[in-house]
Amino acid sequence: MLIDTHCHLDFKDFDADRDAVLERSRAAGVERIVNVGSSVEGSRRAVELAAKYDMIYASVGVHPHDAKTATDKVMADLRALGKEDKVVAVGEVGLDYYRNLSPKEEQLAVFKKFIHLARDLGLPLIIHSREAGTEALDILKKENKNGVAAVMHCFAGDRDFLNRCLDAGLYVSFTASLTFKNAKSLRETAAGMSVEKLLLETDAPFLAPQSFRGKRNEPSYLTYLVEEWSGILKLSKEDIERVTTHNADELFGLGLENKPKVAYQIRHGLYLNITNRCTNACDFCVRSQTSFVKGHNLRLDKEPSAEEVIASVGDPKKYQEIVFCGYGEPTSRLDVVKAVAKWARSKGAKVRLVTNGHGDLINGRVIARELVGLIDKVSVSLNAESDTRYNAICKPEFGAKTYLAVQDFIKSCVKNGIAVEVTCVDVEGVDVKKCEEIAAALGASFRLRSFGVVG
Ligand code: SF4
Repeated sequence: MLIDTHCHLDFKDFDADRDAVLERSRAAGVERIVNVGSSVEGSRRAVELAAKYDMIYASVGVHPHDAKTATDKVMADLRALGKEDKVVAVGEVGLDYYRNLSPKEEQLAVFKKFIHLARDLGLPLIIHSREAGTEALDILKKENKNGVAAVMHCFAGDRDFLNRCLDAGLYVSFTASLTFKNAKSLRETAAGMSVEKLLLETDAPFLAPQSFRGKRNEPSYLTYLVEEWSGILKLSKEDIERVTTHNADELFGLGLENKPKVAYQIRHGLYLNITNRCTNACDFCVRSQTSFVKGHNLRLDKEPSAEEVIASVGDPKKYQEIVFCGYGEPTSRLDVVKAVAKWARSKGAKVRLVTNGHGDLINGRVIARELVGLIDKVSVSLNAESDTRYNAICKPEFGAKTYLAVQDFIKSCVKNGIAVEVTCVDVEGVDVKKCEEIAAALGASFRLRSFGVVG
């Protein structure tokens, strides 16, 4: 399912064929739409559309062009509308200094009022910011004491502004202007986007993708944007779809079902989540922040048996590799790893184990020999160049002896002919070069992982 998080189906442009537009939207997989209000009348129509169509949700606001019309009466009307069913956001609101159709001072004052309205209603903000530099972000930070969530819609800024938005915890959405032939620099900026904060939008009827440029845009064209993002972020279209749908659900509270998964696909690999227990408590571990990785819910209700894991895989040959990973340390369930790996290998699949390297300590014996013939490759998180730093970052349950035990595990895997890749996360203060040297000395390859990027 795709979600168009920003369009204006209430506009006259859709009066003649709104039902047909929605039918095409459904057919293209765009099953939810946030109809964004840009005036009090438009917000009222958005609420009416949300009441009429299951797939539509509404937001209420006044576009910064019309900030001068946001009287006390308008604000009171919007406050009332904001309490209606299926209203999921306040917006679009913000600053537009491109055309300055309302005086700057009024835009600023009205934007602040909308931040407070969103806070009072407990709704996220949809922000429009054009030619306003970092001002909208600065005001949001200053006024937003209670941490109202927000999306920067129709992003058209540079990499620095994108990073500021992401650092401030905002979601960001780009329109299909990303597909325009002359949008090279915007695509370069977009390459720095975190998919975990990405939303999809058409902004229909505006900004149709390159193939329909100049024509009316509509939600079904969202698929062109998915294709573009797939190329930019080197993720599959399914990955883009799943993650952005999850993000939209998280921001707007649409209540979509997302059950915990044992087997989950990212790109061309299938990952197996067999436990949520881990013998480390790394500072950077995403488990403490979210239940989701690339849109998959990894918070297990119960640990699956080997049979249940196998049943969740289906045909292992469909994937480039089967990876024991998930939200915990796989070797704490070594029997399950061995049984599932044996089955997957017998079907001709490649199997990789992602581990913290504590397997020997957890199981009270050297386990590498038991992995021979079952595991093609092991990825071990070393994460530090010294035991002191390892203990500080990873806080291992086994205490001071752990760092050396991880190295012993790597050595015994190498000795038993299993390919080993040592990984580190680029956390500030870690001597990456030294880690790389340690990996080489142990006979392993090395991979640096980016902080905050999982999956
Ligand atoms: S080893 Fe992995 S799962 Fe365990 S705490 Fe560290 S990052 Fe999280």
